[in-house]
Amino acid sequence: MSDTSPPPTGSASPVDMAASAPTMYASKHAAGTDAPSVHDGTVVVVGAGVTGLVTAQLLCEAGVDVVVIEKLPQLGGLARSFVYDDKYVFDCGPHRFDTNNPNIKTYLERVLTRQGTFFPRKSEVYFKGKYYSWPIKPQNLAQLPPRLAGRAFIDLATNGSKEYGEDNFQNYILRQYGPTLYKHFFEGYSLKFLQVHPAETHSDWAKVGINRAIIDDKAQMQNLGQLLRSTLLQFNKVPQRFLYPKAGMYEAWDSVAARIEANGGRIILGQGAEMVGDGKRVVEVRAGEESFKPSVVIWTAPITLACKQLDLHVPDLGYLGLLLYNVIVREEAPRDYQWCYYGARDLLINRVSVPRFFSPDTTTPGVTGYCNEVTCMVGDARWQHGERLIDWVVDDMVRVGLIKDRGNVLDVHVERLPESYPIYRNDYPVELEKARSQLNQFDNLRLAGRTGLFWYNNMDHSMENALQLSKRLLRDAGMTDIDETKLAEGLN
Ligand SMILES: Cc1cc2nc3c(=O)[nH]c(=O)nc-3n(C[C@H](O)[C@H](O)[C@H](O)COP(=O)(O)OP(=O)(O)OC[C@H]3O[C@@H](n4cnc5c(N)ncnc54)[C@H](O)[C@@H]3O)c2cc1C
Repeated sequence: MSDTSPPPTGSASPVDMAASAPTMYASKHAAGTDAPSVHDGTVVVVGAGVTGLVTAQLLCEAGVDVVVIEKLPQLGGLARSFVYDDKYVFDCGPHRFDTNNPNIKTYLERVLTRQGTFFPRKSEVYFKGKYYSWPIKPQNLAQLPPRLAGRAFIDLATNGSKEYGEDNFQNYILRQYGPTLYKHFFEGYSLKFLQVHPAETHSDWAKVGINRAIIDDKAQMQNLGQLLRSTLLQFNKVPQRFLYPKAGMYEAWDSVAARIEANGGRIILGQGAEMVGDGKRVVEVRAGEESFKPSVVIWTAPITLACKQLDLHVPDLGYLGLLLYNVIVREEAPRDYQWCYYGARDLLINRVSVPRFFSPDTTTPGVTGYCNEVTCMVGDARWQHGERLIDWVVDDMVRVGLIKDRGNVLDVHVERLPESYPIYRNDYPVELEKARSQLNQFDNLRLAGRTGLFWYNNMDHSMENALQLSKRLLRDAGMTDIDETKLAEGLN
């Protein structure tokens, strides 16, 4: 995205937003004119997730006075870790760094003070009582039950001639993979995971999320010609390799926080921030007993909360809740996947990840941790009474062959993530645009990050967002020679 890119207009698709997010407010101002300057007082960063922490670090390193306010008592947001008994480390589901952006690679080399672990991806799907490697690769079709493989093959042969109606998640997947794979792999899993029917889910859910997370994006399978080509291409494919901090994800955020503090910044944990506006600016941000008069506010908390605090119409946008059942078992892992999808409707668990296959330092010999994900809506019965489902989760783990003997379960911890995923219903671009245009009236407010922008993203996108937003703010404050590469390398 170039500096002069205009803010998105009309209906704001998150796919467009993902690209333009970092510049969408700053582009109101020509460089050096009336843009609020980060040097005119304290910059308040709301949220100590990846976006908030990285932005705060980059601004502090440029000599800006920064305070970060985080409502949780710990760093990292959705990328935080949980450490039990000082030895068992879990993240929020599978978290690992994966980027081709040279600036993000440079930045990560700088902040990961110890060499991280690199590992090739090994992910699976559990389907009708058997494990298959995942994402779908064309050659996997042959390993499926013969009747299903046959039908999927016929779909692919005839798919090019079929018309699928309006643009929603269901039709997007039907167009891409045909009815058999849609029905068996996508319909049930999506309904179970998102709790919204695929026909009511926007196609962006596939474009920005599922394509990245589940389907092999190199595998074009809309018809037989593409299938054949994709299968042949798989043979030359360099395996994907991920980077992970040895001790757990928290190691990265501790390092970023230390850099913020070493450069004069402050981090307040365990206090929810509250904005007060006068219709044109955010004039105050409160955190418990403290109050700040901000030059600029960088808001990475929910966009809906920003509207509420500033007395604006609250858009009809929702986030999915996630329960994590972190189960510690005195057994070796029977499978060596890093994570696996469990789509069957009679299983409570959606996905399981195994921290020891990200880094062996996250557990002790002979003990395996499993992070089981169960989605819900914040406030529903699952959310409120999640602890009552522990037995069901452990039963599921026995049923799918992860635990041999229930007596070997040492401990189970339940963790709650209220804003784990933005829910992309068909009408969400309209609602999002409403929220953005109202918030855009506040001259010194910048939305950022996954939750602040209602953006189904990954950590590397949040880091790119931080680099671009920091560059823009520093240029507006007169540091015209700043670019993302200099920021990634470090200004001091
Ligand atoms: C299950 C799961 C698995 C994932 N796996 C991967 C992966 O493997 N690789 C990858 O790159 N990405 C992954 N991601 C995505 C990654 O977690 C996010 O892209 C990233 O953490 C987003 O960071 P953020 O700072 O933009 O947002 P957030 O992490 O949402 O940060 C927002 C922060 O604001 C805080 N907050 C909220 N309200 C207030 C308030 N009133 N006052 C102060 N603070 C407030 C929140 O507590 C939070 O800390 C995964 C996400 C999930 C949910």
